[in-house]
Amino acid sequence: MNEYKKIHLLAHELIPVINDLDDEPKQIILDHIKDCDDCKGLYINTLEFDASIPTLDYSNEVELKPLKKLVQFNTGLKLLLIAIRAVILFYILYSSFSFSSVDSVDLSFIQSALFLFYTPAAIFLLIFTFTFFTKKWLWISLLTDLFLVMFLSKILQLFF
Ligand SMILES: [Zn+2]
Repeated sequence: MNEYKKIHLLAHELIPVINDLDDEPKQIILDHIKDCDDCKGLYINTLEFDASIPTLDYSNEVELKPLKKLVQFNTGLKLLLIAIRAVILFYILYSSFSFSSVDSVDLSFIQSALFLFYTPAAIFLLIFTFTFFTKKWLWISLLTDLFLVMFLSKILQLFF
């Protein structure tokens, strides 16, 4: 099997999840698509599919291929990881506001709660992200978490 055929086979498998790939493998596939009509067709289908996700209704779901379902599952998991963080942050802020009057919010409480509750949850979610998602997502998550833990209470300080 020559190099072109090998890349073609891999491209064919990976095109349905192309938006979740790292930049380098993605570029290899995009380069291959230029010379391969078969993969180009599949790529166009994938783009159309992605564009149609918000309008999908249940009757279309039966026809979905497993890989396409996996893409939806993948997107769902990312939203879940974001939602878990949002709920924890909301809970921390909500508690700190309900324990104190609006003009004297206890910022040290927020800072402690970030360390005690948010940090362990974030570490767990980061391990999960490391296992199931691309490096790009891991970096985005890691930087967001570090930023929140180190600077959130300082940013709030500017307002209260
Ligand atoms: Zn191809």
